[in-house]
Parts: sequence; C-alpha cells; structure tokens
Amino acid sequence: MSGEDATSRMGSSTGDDARVAVQGVSKRYDGAQGPVRALSNINFSVANGEFVCVVGPSGCGKTTLFRVIAGLEESTEGRVLLDGKMINGPTSDLGLVFQEYYLFPWLTAAENVGFGPDHAETAADERDARVQELLNLVGLGGSADSYPRDLSGGMKQRVSLARALAMDPGLLLMDEPFGAVDAQTKRMLQDELLDIWQETGKTILLVTHDVAEAVRLADRVVVMAADPGRIRTVVDVDLPRPRTRTDETFGAVYERVLGLIN
Ligand code: ADP
Ligand code: MG
Repeated sequence: MSGEDATSRMGSSTGDDARVAVQGVSKRYDGAQGPVRALSNINFSVANGEFVCVVGPSGCGKTTLFRVIAGLEESTEGRVLLDGKMINGPTSDLGLVFQEYYLFPWLTAAENVGFGPDHAETAADERDARVQELLNLVGLGGSADSYPRDLSGGMKQRVSLARALAMDPGLLLMDEPFGAVDAQTKRMLQDELLDIWQETGKTILLVTHDVAEAVRLADRVVVMAADPGRIRTVVDVDLPRPRTRTDETFGAVYERVLGLIN
C-alpha cells in the first residue's frame, strides 16, 4: 500500500472527501405493535478507498441502514450523499451484495454477472472479456458456464460479488454477505474480499453482526445499539493486515467492540 493510500484510508468522519455520507438519518416503521424506531439520527461517512464495517446485534437496524443507503428504502429523516449527490433511489453507482444471493437460477454464472441494462450497450466480446475478468477476480474463472444450482453457497456469493463489481460502482455495499456460509468458507471469502479491496481500491461498507468479521476487515468499525437503532461509537482498527484472531492486539480490539455491544 502506498503512503498516499494509507493517508486517504485514515478516514474522515465528516470530511468533504467522503464517498458516502449518512447525515441525520432516522427511520420509523409502522409495526403491528406500533411505531418501530429502526434508526435514530445516524451520522457517519466513509472516505474514498476506506473499508468500514457496521456492527451491532440483531434488530439494531443494520439492514434498514443498508436499504436506506442503497436507495431501496426511504428514510423518515435525514439524507445520504454519494459523492456529494443525494441518493433518491436505486443507482448503478452502488454495488449491492445481500446475504441471500439473489442470482437468476436460469442463467449461468457468467450470464448472472453480465446481466444488466448498462451492459446491453457494450459490444458482446468486450462484455464477455469483462465478465471473465470479474470471475477470475473472485476465483471462479473455471465456473463461467455453471448454473447457481451447481455452485456451493460460497461460490454463489462470489458470483454475487462479481455481479456487484460489474458496473464498477463507486461504493460496494454489503449486508451480512458471509452470514450463510460455514466458518471456514467465511474466512476464505473475507481474505478474498480484502485482496479485491486492495487490488481495486474500492470503497466498501459492510454490515454484519459478527464482531470478529468487522475487526478482521475494517479500517473503522461503526458500533450500533438497538431500540432505537443508533450509533454507540466508532472504533478505529489500527492493526496491520492480514489480521489473525489469535493476535493479542486483535483480541484487545475484539473485546472492546464486543463490550460496547453487550
Ligand atoms: P438488523 O438488520 O440489524 O437485524 P433490521 O434493520 O432488520 O435490523 O430491523 C431493525 C428493526 O426494525 C427491528 O426491530 C425490525 O423488527 C424492524 N423492522 C425491519 N423492517 C421492518 C418493516 N418492514 N416493518 C416493520 N418493522 C421493521
Ligand atoms: Mg439484517
């Protein structure tokens, strides 16, 4: 990593260089038992090239926050800026990865990655080359013609990741992306995501309930609390990568974040 990169990743919490800025976002749902305060006055931002994780217990509003930033859900108050522009709805400048894979079962891995209106205007051979490049990037170079039913959970999530990267989005937004795979696959996918982040220089915002995952991946961890869903604090993770859970320094940050959640 160059010195310049390191500096830009130091992070800004409100800086103008923010790729995404969440400003005063609140979200109320009308639940069966009355109003639910899913998000209350959420403020944070992610700098260009930064890797930020949002962590918190089940029900603290992580998915709601993901959906609001993705433009899939309207906030009750506040706004989200992507490169200084307000998000009003879904945009191809965001690459989304959900816990559920949402792949088209009748399309091959390559067709799933290449699917999308923006691609229709690209010449077929150029598009195919780009799709193959993305499949190589996520370690699925040999599975281009496989259908989702023939892929493991981890492989399906790799296809989802390649698809999310296909539009070359300014921000990669992920909601519990490794929540449905076994522990060993999860660690492998985390390592691969870090490699891809370092290779592409993407800005990543990943929400998870898994504290170890957040501490393993992030430059900064936004710690949320529930009822109402709010930010408790933001923890800088100033540890060199690759990070191992058994490192003493890792353990200290992990315990600190866990303590903030409980
Ligand atoms: P998380 O992803 O952290 O588990 P969610 O964002 O899914 O949290 O949910 C936050 C809170 O909002 C929870 O209390 C949940 O029950 C509630 N909630 C989520 N979606 C809806 C909805 N569409 N209608 C009513 N309540 C909702
Ligand atoms: Mg969720």
